[in-house]
Amino acid sequence: MNYQYSGHEAWEQDRQHLIHPFSSLAVNKEEGCTVMAGADGVHVSDAEGNRFYDGIGGLWCVNVGYGRTEIIDAIAQQLRELPFYSAFNNLTNKPASALAAKLAQLAPGPLNHVFFGTGGSIANDSAVRMVHHYFNRIGKPYRKKILSRQNAYHGSTHLTIALTGPVYQHGWDGATDLVHYLSAPHSYRRPEGVSEEGFLDFLIQEMEEAILKLGPDNVAAFIAEPIMGAGGVIVPPEGYHKRTWDLCQKYGLFYISDEVVTAFGRLGHMFASYDKFGIQPDIICTAKGISSGYQPLSATIVSDEIFDVISRPDGAFYHGFTYSCHPAACAAGLKNIEILEREGICERVRKTGPIFQRTLKKLEELDLVGEVRGSHFMMCIENVANKATKQLLPAEANVGKRIAQNCQKRGLIVRPLGHLNIMSPPLILNEAQIEEIGDITHKAIVATMDDLTREGLL
Ligand code: PMP
Repeated sequence: MNYQYSGHEAWEQDRQHLIHPFSSLAVNKEEGCTVMAGADGVHVSDAEGNRFYDGIGGLWCVNVGYGRTEIIDAIAQQLRELPFYSAFNNLTNKPASALAAKLAQLAPGPLNHVFFGTGGSIANDSAVRMVHHYFNRIGKPYRKKILSRQNAYHGSTHLTIALTGPVYQHGWDGATDLVHYLSAPHSYRRPEGVSEEGFLDFLIQEMEEAILKLGPDNVAAFIAEPIMGAGGVIVPPEGYHKRTWDLCQKYGLFYISDEVVTAFGRLGHMFASYDKFGIQPDIICTAKGISSGYQPLSATIVSDEIFDVISRPDGAFYHGFTYSCHPAACAAGLKNIEILEREGICERVRKTGPIFQRTLKKLEELDLVGEVRGSHFMMCIENVANKATKQLLPAEANVGKRIAQNCQKRGLIVRPLGHLNIMSPPLILNEAQIEEIGDITHKAIVATMDDLTREGLL
């Protein structure tokens, strides 16, 4: 295929030796990979010099865009001063302390304590460790179960693949006895004949029944992305956040908000759970946009209540990683947040995000597009064979991948995910660029429809 560069040296080395994250390794071996080599602003370029709009923001993360010399300089300066030092026990460093203080200031309410890691899985893994530790310390060691949801994506460590919905557990034995899965709040795919309000009532009733069946004293927490990302950009029905939060209050469950994708401007706010959806989580887990991908970094931000227990003098909380509090990563995070604030990127996203949404929404006029959903710079196109029945195309049609390939040929990277295409670009796109991305996507879907029709798949 002409959009990949199978002859490139990097690809040959890759094919022989590199195990790709979250990929079909067999397909890669056969088809080759695009060798990404450069980036500027909202664009990336491959090793052949082809330039693309980065429709996926690296992987939902390059919020402030590429080529930010300020962040690069802050990292370089920190590397010169102190490239690394442990933060175990009584050691600390300036960027980590400053970033913890900054996050405590930005995070809502009593979320004043920050545990740093290197990615979203680590952030969620750490949240569950803290919650379990909390209940052990207060003498309720039986309170361990976590409520999660079908279609959730919370990570890929042994613990977090269990929190992640069963869709992604193929070939794994996650610690699933720890987790109870509720239905995804997926309105588009709700049972036929059920209204949106009826569906919301069902979801809430299902959650309450699950808590009662498991026994409230056995359930530690509910974990939820404000908008599900990798599960298909699922925006819950209006009122869902508040009502699930209310149930957590009623039965004493901690509410863990997985804001790995949704924080730092992607939905027009620093933290969507509180600022957009009006709930006060007990823990916010975040990563990605915290450093705009310039360094691996995550934060688990916990409430005073949890911290007060896990920091009691009568025991220790043994959990942490060599690179927790990495000075260069924290320096990148600090500078990134400074840019987000100085350039008013959240305010800007509250204006340009709806334009991006409206532009993509127009794709629903195409026969292949069942629904365009999402919010601001977190969007998804659901492709179907039949709009009325919402029936999917056969898996071998590879519709998401074909559309992604047709976009790439026209200068845009979008993410294929089964029959879906996901978009999560840098947050600094201007209106003209948004228009062009909409245009390219439209043309790519039309071309895909033509191909599928010609091949008898549509
Ligand atoms: N939570 C969510 C909501 C995510 O989208 C992701 C990754 N896409 C993760 C957790 C895991 O993050 P990481 O891949 O950095 O471990």
